[in-house]
Amino acid sequence: MPTDYDMIIVGAGPAGLTAGLYASRARVKTCCIERLSPGGQAALTARVENYPGIEELITGLELCQRMERQARSFGLEIVRDEVQHLETSREALDVQCASGLRRSRTIVVASGANSAALGVPGEKEFFGKGVSYCATCDGPFFKDLDVAVIGGGDSALDEALFLTRFCRRVYLVHRRAEFRAVKLLVERVAASAKIELVLNAALEKILGAEGVESIEVRDRTAGIARRIPVSGVFLYVGLSPNTGFLPASVRTDQKGYVITDEEMRTSVDCILAAGDVRHKSLRQIATAVGDGALAAMSAVKRLESEKTAQMKSEGGSIS
Ligand code: NAP
Repeated sequence: MPTDYDMIIVGAGPAGLTAGLYASRARVKTCCIERLSPGGQAALTARVENYPGIEELITGLELCQRMERQARSFGLEIVRDEVQHLETSREALDVQCASGLRRSRTIVVASGANSAALGVPGEKEFFGKGVSYCATCDGPFFKDLDVAVIGGGDSALDEALFLTRFCRRVYLVHRRAEFRAVKLLVERVAASAKIELVLNAALEKILGAEGVESIEVRDRTAGIARRIPVSGVFLYVGLSPNTGFLPASVRTDQKGYVITDEEMRTSVDCILAAGDVRHKSLRQIATAVGDGALAAMSAVKRLESEKTAQMKSEGGSIS
């Protein structure tokens, strides 16, 4: 059965869009499938200041829109659809999407990772009623109100700083006394008059009635619980990779991130992975685009060697 595409890219964040740019320039028939709008998590970042070569203030959305325009200008097809299931057969990869089946010779998995849930009482109940995983989307609803941000990584500190634009006070609740976030963000948080640190503290409950009214945190040294009145809670306690559609034969690490080699090849022939979905030590836009370029070029090499082998077996000449 013929395939629809030479390459299907799952996800149109920075990794997927870069893979699409490289594949399109290599004149490989490629389709990038995105269930939401292009940009992924990066598009939710209020300010990107560590993408090399871009000195001006730029939002994650604008940077991703530029990537999308550039990839499309070389012919990349981007479709809105949801990949539900991926199956490997001898001749092709079957990508089962919400709209139907698409077949491809190679796949680049660039489906990213979403904010992980903490699993505390009240988190599910008040989701959308004060509990959020996206300050860029929901921050403006908390104008002149007090909110809490949970976590101590780049996301938590970045978003706590962003929330100071709207909120009266931002409690930054972290389970340790040291932050794992980059030092520059730690310095900015320390300098902010609106951010109050609640360190060595574990979030135990989110309380309220119609919406969030307070949180209960426990000091991990003294063991004492404290209630803090807030109208919003923004959780940034790490990420969870989007891999639910992958076959079990694609190897992942203990946290579910896809394991690849340096060429972005996974344990399954013709399936590559790039960006936040991959097991790696640094998740940044800059590393995602590097992954995307490598994954696309690995897939292109693979397609070329398949073509060469096929021509040989048919006795054709190879230039
Ligand atoms: P992260 O770096 O994994 O940090 C997660 C934070 O949540 C950590 O401080 C962790 O505490 C805390 N945490 C985890 N489980 C917890 C639990 N059960 N209870 C309480 N706290 C818990 O996640 P992230 O901040 O979302 O960042 C993800 C990736 O995106 C990182 O690679 C980051 O560098 C990148 N990123 C970069 C930027 C940027 O460059 N501006 C912005 C956003 C994200 P411990 O520290 O104690 O483990």
